[in-house]
Amino acid sequence: MRWLSKVKRVVGQDKSSAGALDQPAVGLPDRVLQTDAPPIKSPPMQIDGRCMSADEFVQYIEGLEMPDPLPTRFFLHHTWIPTRESWKGHSTLLAMKRHYEKQLWRDSQGRLREGWTVGPHVFVAKDGIWLFSDIRYDGVGVYGHNYLSRHLEMVGNYNDELPTGETLKNTIVALGVLHEKLGLDIRNLYFHRDFSSKSCPGWAMQKSWIIPQVERWIQEYRASRQPQVPPVDELASLRAALERLVADLLVDPDLESTLTSAAEQRGLVGALTQQIPVEIDEQGHMVQFFVEALLAPSHQQDEVLSLGEFEHARHSDDGDEPAAPEAGEPSDDDDQDPKGDGRSQTKRSLGSLRLKAPPTDPHEFTGRIR
Ligand SMILES: [Zn+2]
Repeated sequence: MRWLSKVKRVVGQDKSSAGALDQPAVGLPDRVLQTDAPPIKSPPMQIDGRCMSADEFVQYIEGLEMPDPLPTRFFLHHTWIPTRESWKGHSTLLAMKRHYEKQLWRDSQGRLREGWTVGPHVFVAKDGIWLFSDIRYDGVGVYGHNYLSRHLEMVGNYNDELPTGETLKNTIVALGVLHEKLGLDIRNLYFHRDFSSKSCPGWAMQKSWIIPQVERWIQEYRASRQPQVPPVDELASLRAALERLVADLLVDPDLESTLTSAAEQRGLVGALTQQIPVEIDEQGHMVQFFVEALLAPSHQQDEVLSLGEFEHARHSDDGDEPAAPEAGEPSDDDDQDPKGDGRSQTKRSLGSLRLKAPPTDPHEFTGRIR
C-alpha cells in the first residue's frame, strides 16, 4: 500500500468520538477530502511492534488461539515506500502507525473519520517479521475487502524487481505458516491489485512465481511435523541378525509359493522345510514349517512379541498408522484394568509395543490329520 500517499489534512478535529467499528477505506475517494465537516478522530492504533525471526514467527503462530470467524482471504502487499533501503525497523513501524492514524475515511453512516484503528498484520523485511495489527482479527489493507481478511506487507518496491534474500525467505515462511494456521489454501492467495488499480504487491510480483515457493515450504513444514521416520534400517538389521542365528537350519524356500509369501506377511523368520503335501479330511493341502522368533525384554518376560509384532509395534511407536485390526483381534477395551493389578499399567507404559494378536485363521480346523 502507498503509505505516503498525500492526504490533505482536515483541521478542527473532534476528539469526542471514538470506537470506530466500521472498516476504514484504503484508497480514499476524493470526495472524502472535499468536506468541511471536522473528522471524528479515532483512538490511537494499537500495534504489537515485535520483530521475530522466521523460526520465532512460526512458533508464535503455532501457539496462537485463532478465534472464530476465521478469515477467508489473505492479501499480499508491498510497502512501495518505505523501500528496502529506507526501512529502519521499529522507528519505521512507528512512522507507519502515525501515518495510518492520520488517514481520513468515511464510516457506513457517511461520517468523516480520521485514523484507522487497525492496519496490516505483518511487515516482512530483511531484518525479520514485524508484528503490526493483531493477526487474530481483521485488519485494513484493501478498500472494501477487509472483512475476514488478513494482510501481509513486504517491505520494498517490487514494481521493477522481485524480493530476494531474507525478505523473500521471511515472506515465504510467513505466508506458509499463516495459511496453514488459518486453514487457507495458498493457491487462493490474493494480491491487493486484484481489487484495485494499484500495482501492489508490485508489477514484478506474479502469483505463478510466489505461490509455488510457498507451496514447497508448506510441504516441507507438514513433513517436518510428521513423527520421525521409523528406524527401518535398524529393524532390518535386527531381522538380518536373527536370521543369521538360525541360518544353518533354514532352507531356501520357493519364493513364488503362497505359503512363503504368507509367512513373510506374518513376519516369520524363514522356512525349515519346502512345501509338503498332506491330506486333511480327504482334501489335499500343502504344509510348510517356518521359524518364528519370539522376543521378550529380559526384565519383562511376560511381554512377549513375535519378531513381526515387534517390528509392527516399533513402526506404530514411530507414528506409522497401525494396521486396521483384523477379525478376532482384541479390541482396545482390553486396555481396561478393572482389577487395578497394574498389569495394564505395564501395557500402557509399553505404548504401542502392546501385543496385537497375530493374524488368525477365522475358520478353525476341527478335522483330523492323516
Ligand atoms: Zn497493498
